[in-house]
Amino acid sequence: MNNLKALQEKISYDKTFDCVQCGYCLPACPTYETMERETHSPRGRINLVKMVAEGKAAVEDLQEPIEKCLGCMACTTVCPTDVQYGEILEGAKEVLEDNAQKSTLQKQTEDFLFGSFFPSRRWMNTLGNATWLYQRSGLQRIAHMMKLTKAAPLHLDAFERVLPNLPTPKQRKRRAKRYIRKRPSTAKVAFFTGCVMDSMFFHTNQNTIELLLKSGTEVIVPERQTCCGALHAHSGKIEQSREVAKDNIRAFEEEEVDYIINNAGGCGARLIEYHHLFEEGTTWHERAKRFVSKVKDITEVLAELDQIMYTIPIERTVTYQPSCHMSNVQGVIEPPRQLMNKIPNLTVKEQKRPDFCCGSAGIYNIINYEESMDILDVKMADVCATKAEEVVTTNPGCLLQMKLGIEREHASGEMEAVHLVDLLAQAGPVGKWE
Ligand code: SF4
Ligand code: SF4
Repeated sequence: MNNLKALQEKISYDKTFDCVQCGYCLPACPTYETMERETHSPRGRINLVKMVAEGKAAVEDLQEPIEKCLGCMACTTVCPTDVQYGEILEGAKEVLEDNAQKSTLQKQTEDFLFGSFFPSRRWMNTLGNATWLYQRSGLQRIAHMMKLTKAAPLHLDAFERVLPNLPTPKQRKRRAKRYIRKRPSTAKVAFFTGCVMDSMFFHTNQNTIELLLKSGTEVIVPERQTCCGALHAHSGKIEQSREVAKDNIRAFEEEEVDYIINNAGGCGARLIEYHHLFEEGTTWHERAKRFVSKVKDITEVLAELDQIMYTIPIERTVTYQPSCHMSNVQGVIEPPRQLMNKIPNLTVKEQKRPDFCCGSAGIYNIINYEESMDILDVKMADVCATKAEEVVTTNPGCLLQMKLGIEREHASGEMEAVHLVDLLAQAGPVGKWE
């Protein structure tokens, strides 16, 4: 890029000056711990961005350190000067994307994935139905027997093994667009279903709706909603991320609601940052701010409304693996723990470092499989030390990563991973008004 000023603007050069190089963030950074390189620490990355913005280093020098950053934002929670690392990271990714040399096939594939596939509910349903067919028709068993899955690229065979059993196409179709209450409702909420979440964890989405109904809310599921845009942003495709944000803002403006609920830490973190995508003072910025003010994680609303009793005791020891995006970006820390404490007989054991990322981080574990597994192994040592029988998460990526971690520890059969919503659904939720 020739124009240094334009580069500085895009890369959030001004924000890099907030870093005073104190190094307090180093012990919090998983990639610094596992990769042991200054360039793979928050401080090192910020320095590198500054050098690139000043023309003292090439854009290419950013590639490896930025690609290996999880975007977990653990560094921002300990930074004494409140460095806006998220904006610096996103700017660096955008610059790298602008600078990338791609083949026509690569460009076409990315255009399809980010422009058509993830944002389309139809494609997501098709993916879910195709996976169901693969699981139920016996194809999966044959593929495993003949070791055909080993040929899958990007270690996708590992993720294929830990996918949950998917619902039938009929069950998928049965979901209503609106759940009206005969009695007065505690709140009117719109449910953000997510793309991967709705495709692969449809049953968790159904349990989410059930819990909302038992909390006495009226629930609508806006039809024109699309994916949150986190995957676009993680890949430096900020313009496309802005477009899906606009689509969601429009879809959730169609009806006046009190809350916009999601159940995936990664999606929620993206949704609450929509206003940063638009220039201050513009209509879109105002519309985004209004949207953001209503976004809540399911656990926040369940804890706040407090309308459910859990009637089935669960004699189990669990440990909670927080989603980094939920804790570090959304700041939702206590509600999941409060909800687990409401389940009779459930024992919750805290990890020594619950805030250490599991290595999932969107599609990080697909793109950077080896590095992600190194981080996962550190996490699993902590998880195993709790002697928990179940790891509870609040994000689909973390859930699959935990399942993978359990497999790597050869602990399948002794330990499981579950979404908190599904655990609450197992605990016999009854509305206090029922
Ligand atoms: S976002 Fe996470 S991985 Fe990236 S620099 Fe910060 S702590 Fe390290
Ligand atoms: S803690 Fe903040 S100010 Fe200190 S080195 Fe890290 S990013 Fe810079």
